[in-house]
Amino acid sequence: ARSAADARAADPAVTADGVPVKVMVNIDDPALLDLIGPAICDGVGLTRTEFLFADGAPDEDTQFTFYARLLAWADGRPVTIRTLDAGGDKPIPGVTFDGEANPFLGVRGVRLSLGRPDLLRTQLRALARAAATTPVPLKVMVPMVTVPDELERVRALLAEAVAALEAAGTPCATPILGTMIEVPAAALTAGTFDAGFYSIGSNDLIQYATASARDNPAVASLADPLNPAVLELIARTVAAGAARGVEVSLCGDMASSPALAGALLATGLRVFSAAPAEVGAVKQAIRASVSNAPEDGGDA
Ligand code: PEP
Ligand code: MG
Repeated sequence: ARSAADARAADPAVTADGVPVKVMVNIDDPALLDLIGPAICDGVGLTRTEFLFADGAPDEDTQFTFYARLLAWADGRPVTIRTLDAGGDKPIPGVTFDGEANPFLGVRGVRLSLGRPDLLRTQLRALARAAATTPVPLKVMVPMVTVPDELERVRALLAEAVAALEAAGTPCATPILGTMIEVPAAALTAGTFDAGFYSIGSNDLIQYATASARDNPAVASLADPLNPAVLELIARTVAAGAARGVEVSLCGDMASSPALAGALLATGLRVFSAAPAEVGAVKQAIRASVSNAPEDGGDA
């Protein structure tokens, strides 16, 4: 079944009842760009930039070079790059705080970035420069957002970065700014965020909704993606995106699991972002599923 799915990996995913579904890829390692071509996917739904920080904070040119390479690889397909998501399960020496009693509930993701505006500014400058290298608007998303003000503070820093680049005559463009939805409070209030798109981080959303740490095998059975509360949080986010007319995708591990494709389609989700190795199998699962849409594809 795997080889049959892989053989059709470059074909679009359309449900058994004819609803088109986008399947994008998650990139967390630059080596992937040499191993796969972009034809299997509808774009990049998540780029985890933490690898850039493995040996300390990278300079602007190092980041720009990778972002531009990724955009060139995608060859005109939409690309979403996430700002640094340090902390929690992703400690970075010299960047994250040691000794927090509850790192998953502490200074991680955007909370850390806003506390280290030096790091965030450099990343936003590199992203704005990369955005000028492609005709397709670059999408930038912010992890661990809880309240709209965090997104607005990143937007202000992005505007400052673009203004400074323009003043210096450096080619740049303003990326589309979106938010990840991985905190239950954000899922339940998604419509109040001025986001250009939403990307659901189900790994964290599940751990926070079920109070089950993603790194603790003793509670793994409670961290159930099919818990109705989790599916409800996803459905509400999808509905908020539809009401605001912006795209909602899901880039957590759920989207890489063929067995969960039907449940995700039933929430109304129409954009998946999966690990590259699972794209073929996920597309096959979507082809075998019905959208469960009462009318047009379940955008409601
Ligand atoms: C998620 O939380 O689902 C997600 C995609 O981000 P990460 O796994 O990198 O925290
Ligand atoms: Mg996450």
